[in-house]
Amino acid sequence: MADQLLIGLDFGGMSIKGGAVNASSGEVLARALRPFAADVPADVIFSRAAELVLELESAAGGRAQRIGVGCAGLFDRPTGTVLASANMPNLVGESLSEGVARGLEGREVLVENDANVAAFGEQWLGAGRTEDSMALLTLGTGVGGGIVLADELFVGPGGNAGEIGHTVIFPKPSGSYYDGAYHEELACPCGSYGCLERLVSASAAKRRARAAGLDDDLPVLAQAARDADGPERRLMHEIGRDLGSGLSTLVTLFDISFFVIGGGFGAALDVLRPGTEELLAEQRYGSGSTRVEPATLGSDAGWIGAARLSLTGAAPRGRPGN
Ligand SMILES: [Zn+2]
Repeated sequence: MADQLLIGLDFGGMSIKGGAVNASSGEVLARALRPFAADVPADVIFSRAAELVLELESAAGGRAQRIGVGCAGLFDRPTGTVLASANMPNLVGESLSEGVARGLEGREVLVENDANVAAFGEQWLGAGRTEDSMALLTLGTGVGGGIVLADELFVGPGGNAGEIGHTVIFPKPSGSYYDGAYHEELACPCGSYGCLERLVSASAAKRRARAAGLDDDLPVLAQAARDADGPERRLMHEIGRDLGSGLSTLVTLFDISFFVIGGGFGAALDVLRPGTEELLAEQRYGSGSTRVEPATLGSDAGWIGAARLSLTGAAPRGRPGN
């Protein structure tokens, strides 16, 4: 048990990334990647995943009892069936846990949302390793999120909690209180309006830069904000405040005081943070201090968290008998 081998996989739109890690030391023993074409059928993806597991076991010199899998999308918890996934449409309607287990002699396969496993990974071996509780936000095309409370992944009764990117921070105009203009760009594909991701994702930052007449290349924008106290710094400060608005909701609801920011636009955290901390100081319930730190595991966070999931052995959630 002391040297138990854990294996995690992270399903992306064009590849499966995976790795093996020692359960007790957290040492990464092997990493590997299996690319596939976007239009391959689910069976091909499943057999690539099983091959990847066997390759990782051979490289790490052991055998995993269970396999953890992270994948973007919504799942039916009891069966591990993908209900919706924008990145992997060919997997919709398929049971990920059964499909991957098919090539692995019936070993148990646990499935979890990709942002949730990334949060679980960062809290185990990354930026949150000294904390019991934290939230991860990934600032990419959208805003992914995951919440870890007291060393456990918090997914809620239906398994879909932690969608921090879709908390509303900008109210829809609706009468005398919210009498501002309706902003088309704040309408979210999720059906809501004013979601955090419509204001602080990489796509939102580019849109806001263009609206301010600035270069929409985000690394260039971030560098300009570091270099001078000009319009770029003011924009980053504003976006940072909006990020803080989303985080303040988590402070109030969960008493979380440690936040980890990842994703491509997370590289600009140093220039977002002053605004984020300013807003958190103004607008949160309670008086404890908060910290906002960059993610440290990069694209390994997902498979590392999936591997950890296999250690905790959390079964797919659902009512007994379903
Ligand atoms: Zn939304």
